[in-house]
Amino acid sequence: MNTCRDCGLELREINVFPFDHRYCIPCGIKHHDFIQGRKNKLKLLQILPLDIKVRLSSQLIKEAIDEFGIDHVYVSYSGGKDSTVLSHIAKQLYPNILHLFANTTNEYSETLQHIKWEKSNNKTNIITVFPIDSKGNLWTFKKVVDYYGFPMFSKRISNAIRTYQHAETQFTKQNSISYLQRNFKKYLPYIDLPISDKCCDKLKKEPLKRKAKELNLNCSIIGILASESYQREQEWVNYGCNVFFIKSDNQCRPLSFWTEHDILAYIEKNNIKISSLYSKGYKRNGCMYCGFGVHLEKDAQNRYEKLRNTHPDKYDYLAFNFGYILCECNIRF
Ligand code: SF4
Ligand SMILES: [Zn+2]
Repeated sequence: MNTCRDCGLELREINVFPFDHRYCIPCGIKHHDFIQGRKNKLKLLQILPLDIKVRLSSQLIKEAIDEFGIDHVYVSYSGGKDSTVLSHIAKQLYPNILHLFANTTNEYSETLQHIKWEKSNNKTNIITVFPIDSKGNLWTFKKVVDYYGFPMFSKRISNAIRTYQHAETQFTKQNSISYLQRNFKKYLPYIDLPISDKCCDKLKKEPLKRKAKELNLNCSIIGILASESYQREQEWVNYGCNVFFIKSDNQCRPLSFWTEHDILAYIEKNNIKISSLYSKGYKRNGCMYCGFGVHLEKDAQNRYEKLRNTHPDKYDYLAFNFGYILCECNIRF
C-alpha cells in the first residue's frame, strides 16, 4: 500500500498529487509551495553583494563554533579554490582553526604542492588524512577500482549499477534496472561494466570520519556551493546552510549561496594564492582520474585529454590501468 509521506493517508488514483506521487493532493500542494519558497530565497541570497555574503558566511561559521566549540570543529579542505576561500574566511575569525585534507592517492601534484605551501608558508593548521582502513591497510585509487569498480558518470548512476551488480534478490536487481530506466536510460548499456560509487567512501569519507572520531570533532565546515549541481541545490532547499543534529553528520556550509563569480571576485579582491592547477586550464582540482561528470565535459578537451598534455606520466598510468574501462564507457582520453 502506498501512503502519503507527510500525513500517512493511503494513496489512490483519485487523491494522489499528480506532480509528485509521494504525496496526497493537499500535502503535495503544501510541499510544492515550500520548495518554491526556498528556491526563491536561495535566488535572493545568490544576488546579494559580496561583502554581505562574506558577513553572512562568517556568521554561519561563528554559529558552528558557538554550538560545538573551536576544538570540535574542522574545515574540510580540498586544496581547491572554493575551500581556499572558505579557509581564508574561517582563518580571519579563528586563525588556528583545524583543517583536514583527505589525500585520496589520486591528487594532482599541484594540489599537494598547494597544501604544502598552505601549511608551511601560510601557517594553515592542516592535518592530512590518508585512506587507511581500521586494519591499517592503505587503499589506493587503483585498489578501489580493482576491488569495487571505477567511479564513472555520476554518483547516482554508479550507485545504481553497483546495487544492481551486488543485489541479493531478484527484486532489488529489478528495482535498480527500473531506476535506471526511469532516470538514466541511456546508461543501461553500461550496467555490467566494473563501475561503482564506493570510491569516495573508501578514499575520502571513511578516512575523514575516522580522523574526526579520533580527534573528537563533531562538525565539519564545507565549501560547497548550491549552484554547483542540482543535488547541492536540493540539499540547501531541504536543509539550509547549518545542518546541526538533523543528519548523522553535523555540517556547516557557509558558502552555499555563493556563485562561482563570487569565489573568483573574492580571490582577486583579497589577493589569495590558489593552486597553480587553475592556471593550466583546469576548472576543478578534484581527483585526477575520477570519472564523475567527465561525460558531460563539453570543452574541446575533457579532463583526461588535458592530463595528456599537462601530466604525461599520470596520463600514461591512466591509459595503461583504466584505458579499457574508458573505452567501454565511450569516454575520450
Ligand atoms: S572524487 Fe572520484 S576519484 Fe575522488 S574519491 Fe571521490 S569518487 Fe574517488
Ligand atoms: Zn498527505
